[in-house]
Amino acid sequence: MGKQREIAGWGHQVRVLTDVERPETVRGLSSSLGVQGIARGLGRSYGDAALAPGRVWQMTRMRRMLAFRDGVLTAEAGTSLGDIQRVFLPRGYTLPVTPGTQWVTLGGAVASDVHGKNHHRAGAFSRYVEGIALCTADGEVRSIGPTRDPDLFWATVGGMGLTGLILEVSLRLQPVETGYISVDYFRTGGLEETLGWFAEHDAAYPFSVAWLDCLASGQALGRAVMMGGRPAAAEEVPRGKMAYPMPRPALRMPVRLPSGALSRGVGIAFNAAYYGVHRPVLRKVEPWWKFFYPLDVVDDWHRLYGRQGFVQYQAIFPQDVGLREIRGLLGRIQAARHPNFLGVLKRLGESSPGLLSFPAPGLTLALDLPMQGERTRSLFRDLYAQTADLGGRVYLAKDSFLTPALLQRMYPRLAEFRAVKERVDPMGRWRSALAERVGLVEAP
Ligand SMILES: Cc1cc2nc3c(=O)[nH]c(=O)nc-3n(C[C@H](O)[C@H](O)[C@H](O)COP(=O)(O)OP(=O)(O)OC[C@H]3O[C@@H](n4cnc5c(N)ncnc54)[C@H](O)[C@@H]3O)c2cc1C
Repeated sequence: MGKQREIAGWGHQVRVLTDVERPETVRGLSSSLGVQGIARGLGRSYGDAALAPGRVWQMTRMRRMLAFRDGVLTAEAGTSLGDIQRVFLPRGYTLPVTPGTQWVTLGGAVASDVHGKNHHRAGAFSRYVEGIALCTADGEVRSIGPTRDPDLFWATVGGMGLTGLILEVSLRLQPVETGYISVDYFRTGGLEETLGWFAEHDAAYPFSVAWLDCLASGQALGRAVMMGGRPAAAEEVPRGKMAYPMPRPALRMPVRLPSGALSRGVGIAFNAAYYGVHRPVLRKVEPWWKFFYPLDVVDDWHRLYGRQGFVQYQAIFPQDVGLREIRGLLGRIQAARHPNFLGVLKRLGESSPGLLSFPAPGLTLALDLPMQGERTRSLFRDLYAQTADLGGRVYLAKDSFLTPALLQRMYPRLAEFRAVKERVDPMGRWRSALAERVGLVEAP
């Protein structure tokens, strides 16, 4: 039996008291498998995907790197992406795809089939996964991959831990000349220009993203700092610097701010300052962590949002959704006068074959909002309904509000996923609070 602990998702708006197992080896894990529950990595999913009232297997002690052959790393699922960067960058390899924080595990990256700033050209994380060792509900460890039990493989990538415990992952890394990215910064004056930039310039950059000001008023709504990046070549490394630099330890957020400290006024000021500071500049050479993980400079930054925590709205819209619709969504948030801080817009490329994978071709919009009880819930009801009406879907790794009916509308391959789940887990052993809430498993 593990230790009873209160755990939360990254948004800290839902907490669960549960039995937490922290296995160090497969043998240690096997002795704890008799009950229902879910795997957990570094807890960077925002809502309740890695929470379960029964048992949670926190995999972060299983973090050994096991083999590296022909560019393919095999490592235990609790290994963090940050650790992989630290070990492999000095050896000339980097992650092929990375989300906006390095503090996610291999298991979490596979289970959410994460996407990065290069999705429009490089696809999702699963494109580079060559194999997985998966512990299924019968206690067996199965070796699966795109050609070994592909149905189970494509249900596991993006499957939010609901097919079993991922024990090991074999991931193809990318050769790279330096640990720097050469970044072009632009600023747009409003949403139309922001979308125009994506249409015209995005394809030219391996990495791209827009930091969106969703609180600017009138024609300035949706103005953005646009970033287009390319891996820097050896001759671009700043004079006197190492080709593969490493970050200093992160700062700590020592206290939790009172809920409500991040008001709408603070949001407007923050966004305006961010926009003001980032002046247009070409070929600014930045170390990998600064470009990929700007939020990681402060550990525990979720504490800024106070005890009530915060939530994220992240949706992907089909390619025919554009200016009018995105402006409508942003206008809805403005009309509610709900505070909101970080806004990110990004164009995604091809869908992944993962049955519950989030990415699809089109624009993805992500917004962080402090949790303010019924006011926030009501706003999300509206945003989610509009998203479904537009043919879009929300990201399960970020979700806190989805319902079974909306899941059905947003995820067209749900029936295929359910069929695989029924085959490998007929008793519904692997279950999270998210899975119960959205009807991916029957609630007890
Ligand atoms: C600041 C920030 C930026 C982010 N940016 C992005 C982004 O750009 N793109 C993106 O795609 N995501 C992004 N995310 C979300 C994050 O990448 C995902 O939520 C990821 O799954 C978190 O990994 P984790 O190890 O923390 O897993 P957890 O949050 O602990 O778990 C997430 C899911 O993975 C499952 N899981 C974890 N480990 C295992 C395992 N060993 N076996 C089976 N299932 C497992 C859990 O059951 C759960 O369903 C961001 C999150 C933060 C906090």
